[in-house]
Amino acid sequence: MTTASRLDSYDVIVIGGGAAGLAAAVALGRSRRSVAVVDVGEPRNAPAAGAHNLLGQEGIAPRELLAVGRKEAAGYGVVFHDDRVVGARRGDDAFAVDLADGDALLARRLILASGLVDELPDVPGVRELWGSSVLHCPYCHGWEVRDRRIGVLGTGPFAVHQTQLFRQLSEDVTLFTHTTPTVDGETASQLAARGIRVVDGAVREIRASGGEVAAVVLDDGREFDLDAVVVGPRFHARTDLYEQLGGVATEHPMGWYIETDPTGRTAIPGVWAAGNASDLAAMVSVSAGAGVMAGAAVNADLVADDVARAVGGTGQNRAEW
Ligand SMILES: Cc1cc2nc3c(=O)[nH]c(=O)nc-3n(C[C@H](O)[C@H](O)[C@H](O)COP(=O)(O)OP(=O)(O)OC[C@H]3O[C@@H](n4cnc5c(N)ncnc54)[C@H](O)[C@@H]3O)c2cc1C
Repeated sequence: MTTASRLDSYDVIVIGGGAAGLAAAVALGRSRRSVAVVDVGEPRNAPAAGAHNLLGQEGIAPRELLAVGRKEAAGYGVVFHDDRVVGARRGDDAFAVDLADGDALLARRLILASGLVDELPDVPGVRELWGSSVLHCPYCHGWEVRDRRIGVLGTGPFAVHQTQLFRQLSEDVTLFTHTTPTVDGETASQLAARGIRVVDGAVREIRASGGEVAAVVLDDGREFDLDAVVVGPRFHARTDLYEQLGGVATEHPMGWYIETDPTGRTAIPGVWAAGNASDLAAMVSVSAGAGVMAGAAVNADLVADDVARAVGGTGQNRAEW
């Protein structure tokens, strides 16, 4: 793959080379745009063995999927920088992006596809087992734990809903209320009607055996043998670069994200966002779809800018900024 040098200039810089960023890069590369993807290589689903609900690639290893995507993008001339973007700013006619290695890149447009951080409950065992048998998403790994003994660690208002979703996959489901708000009478009846146990009390740790969940241990010493534990992380989109550019992150009941229109356009002219950066619930295929939409929208925006410049104007950049 091509390696670029200091102060290289592109039509578009895509920050993040996950499903969203790579899909955007392919759409732009196929539109004959010069594109750089800067990616530090930590996709959110890296701890998982496979990516599911992915038509045509069901169960593919997350990093294998991205390696294929990189190859496809490189085939259309997309350049890759295996680095972290540490700064972004807007000049008169271009964006400048600073890389951790000291290089800076310029571009007419930016796509923020840097994903989100899962803020996990602070219970010993959760982080160590995250993505293998500590889970959050019934569509990502629910099938893999069907008919197993599943515990839900209650940490917020969505715990009951999550519990009912996992009950679709197994008859052996226990809700550990932990720090979740009190389960009211009607909710308790709904859980009981579906055979879901409710255990009150703070959880002290999730005990592992052979690298998998073995039991949930409560503060009072009670232990419950289990095969998987479901948690509800807070989803914090990586909004730091957007904020450096003057954007404001938007709060959501489940975390923080970058608000966009349906094409991924943000409130900052010239800046788009796609994937988990702008949609906390987006799975891989949805993120890739958003990436394609953003790539196409950015190309159309650049075409409008090219037309304006061709007829002798200053182009859209200066007009808008
Ligand atoms: C454990 C787990 C399992 C999952 N399983 C599934 C599943 O089976 N099926 C499914 O559809 N979805 C699954 N998901 C959801 C899936 O991970 C997301 O839908 C997907 O990763 C979103 O893609 P993205 O491109 O927006 O972000 P990411 O895939 O997270 O990619 C973002 C990329 O940007 C890079 N980056 C971030 N900041 C910077 C920066 N400043 N400079 C350079 N690079 C940067 C990151 O390192 C990363 O490589 C799972 C999630 C988790 C947590």
